[in-house]
Amino acid sequence: MHKREITEKAPPDLTIFSNWSGCIMAIIATFALGSGTLLQDGSPSLNGLIVAIMLTLATGHYYWRFQITKPANNQSLSAELEGPLLLVVIVWTIFRLGASFLPSLIIIPAMTIAWITIHYHGLATLICVLVVVAVEAALTLTGNQTLLLASTNIFFCAIVVASLNFFPGTKSYKTKLRQARIDTDQDIASQEQAIEMGLTGDHISAPEILQGLHNFDHSKSFSQQTVESVNKSFELQLEMIRLALNLTTIAVLWPDPANDVLRLRYLATTREDINSGPYPVGTGITGALSGNHEETELVGVKPSHPALPYYRKNGRVGSILALRIPTNQPDNVKTETAKTGILCADRESDSPWSDRERQVLRLTGKKLGLEISGCRLLLNMDRQRATINRLCHGLRELNSDPSLESIFAASIKAVKAQVQTDLLALCLRSGDRHQIVLAEGAGTDKLTNHYSPIEEGLVGQAIKTGRTLPAGGRYLGAAPIFSNAQTFTAYQSLLVVPLPDEDNTPIGCLVVAAKDPGVFTKNHQEILEIIAAQITINIKLGQAHEQLGVQATTDGLTGLVNHQTFQHGCEVMLERATRNGNHLCLLLADLDYFKKINDNFGHPFGDLVLREVAKVMAETVRTVDLAARYGGEEFAIVLENCDGKSGLILAEKIRKRIAQLHLTCGDKSITVTLSTGIAVFPDNCSDKSSLIELADQALYRAKGAGRNQTVLCSEPTN
Ligand code: GH3
Ligand code: MG
Ligand code: MG
Repeated sequence: MHKREITEKAPPDLTIFSNWSGCIMAIIATFALGSGTLLQDGSPSLNGLIVAIMLTLATGHYYWRFQITKPANNQSLSAELEGPLLLVVIVWTIFRLGASFLPSLIIIPAMTIAWITIHYHGLATLICVLVVVAVEAALTLTGNQTLLLASTNIFFCAIVVASLNFFPGTKSYKTKLRQARIDTDQDIASQEQAIEMGLTGDHISAPEILQGLHNFDHSKSFSQQTVESVNKSFELQLEMIRLALNLTTIAVLWPDPANDVLRLRYLATTREDINSGPYPVGTGITGALSGNHEETELVGVKPSHPALPYYRKNGRVGSILALRIPTNQPDNVKTETAKTGILCADRESDSPWSDRERQVLRLTGKKLGLEISGCRLLLNMDRQRATINRLCHGLRELNSDPSLESIFAASIKAVKAQVQTDLLALCLRSGDRHQIVLAEGAGTDKLTNHYSPIEEGLVGQAIKTGRTLPAGGRYLGAAPIFSNAQTFTAYQSLLVVPLPDEDNTPIGCLVVAAKDPGVFTKNHQEILEIIAAQITINIKLGQAHEQLGVQATTDGLTGLVNHQTFQHGCEVMLERATRNGNHLCLLLADLDYFKKINDNFGHPFGDLVLREVAKVMAETVRTVDLAARYGGEEFAIVLENCDGKSGLILAEKIRKRIAQLHLTCGDKSITVTLSTGIAVFPDNCSDKSSLIELADQALYRAKGAGRNQTVLCSEPTN
């Protein structure tokens, strides 16, 4: 009985290197080199150049076909020797041809031999070393070089090989290296198999399978373990069935949707002439299982009939039974990739399959299918857990900072952790418009802060309806996303997810778009809707927080900054003026006879006057200045980078405007006047409290001098 498990790719077809041809070529070249025919008085001859080119081509071809990183673990002796032998002969030939010009070229062949001793087994190394010694000895004997030079070359090579092998040449290193190589091969094979069988996220999609979300290492290790366990179980079962039903071969073929081929995944057989594939879909008996056919059988197969793709030779096949292995297909796997494996049994006897045999094979197919389905379920659960972890992490970050700016940035980050997008934007409703508050992706710099009428774009639609658009995440590029003025033809996948508010009118939208089609699944939509709800809460919290901040710093009646903020602002501005060597003016202003206004026209009218006065002040100062309600009917204005003269001009401007205010209470027209004192930094003083005190003294003088005037402090610098 011969049983083979085929889990790796079929080896490359090394046709021109079969039967030792590579080795023979290398040996002939060695003789040619050693006999000195490639050299002419120490320089390369024409023959030498031709041989060097041919050898280079042969070596290149060999490694290109064989893949340099994958030295043969399971190849014949000839295949294992050909690579290193060709390599050492070509580098040595090139060295010999060029040595007369550049003796230091010796480093290249020396390193090559060192590399071979590390990566290949002992026999290959020994033969390579023998080749070098033989060539050098032959060249010396034929008088093409001196004994001293030959010994020097060999000695140098020996030194390099020894030193490079000192550490990596140790047994433990080599064992580790070899193990690592075997592991890598197994990893790749397991991953390929996992993908084909739907044991990774690439071809299945459950709520948890989110592109861009894969914790790759985790998923890899899990699917690899799964594949290994499936392998063991399948091997055992197939061998049991083969023995029980007296079959020649029982095999599992699995479709590789990417390449439209079938791969031989499991095999229990007595035959030696196995062609490990892959085979085009539909070859031999597998062709009969296309469409809705679940099972097919062939009895009395003609010896010339190539019914089974995995036999190299026809014949010795009497009857065949092939059936589809039923597995539960993940919900949204596309139909063309939703092909399952095929279980194929054959025997030499051409008698028809009995009901019992059929039943056993069907049950075997079912059992294999169930095992794969079970593994998929386990894998899905594992991924689901990983997704929830990621989601929780994203949401935690969303909760970390209450400022609106950080909330916008954290929202984008949380979304990016869940889906792969080419465009990501956050839009907020603002009155009868919606505004893009943050956008990321190519060409989005112009989008940020862009306003559009509330009804425009899919964003407007999503805000109006409260539903995620467009259906199925498919975008045809026709409907505008944000505003009618912009079109986005580069995207084929789109989701505009409303940010739901309690009263069912969304506060805005989350927009994700991708250039590739079919990027966003139903599951992505569900996850994004959860995130959108969380973003809404955070934005509303942020807005409330900002509101509180505004309330804490402004005076409720006048809208100017309050006393506390004035104190802080004045300090900051003074520090800046000190640092920059600039002037700074402090104006302290007080309404004249304000008590009378209150008394004569009532407190509410007094409030109105205060508001009007504040308005004049706010409108007159520059944006860099600070106008505050100091308390009662007193105001403080800090003028940045402003000397006494300019301060006086501005104070007078304010005074005149206030005096000209048209205030009426009933049929009475009322005027109000303002007295102001000014102190200047650094002309009058250098600290805040002195500045306030001096300004207050100046104000007192203005009052004393008859009110409705401005007095500039005349105190010298203290
Ligand atoms: P002058 O400053 O010219 O010496 O006379 P004045 O009448 O303005 O003097 P005083 O500082 O004694 O009066 C300030 C008045 O401002 C007293 C108070 O009733 C009034 N006042 C303070 N805060 C408010 C306010 O918020 N609203 C109103 N309507 N009046 C206020
Ligand atoms: Mg007062
Ligand atoms: Mg007053």
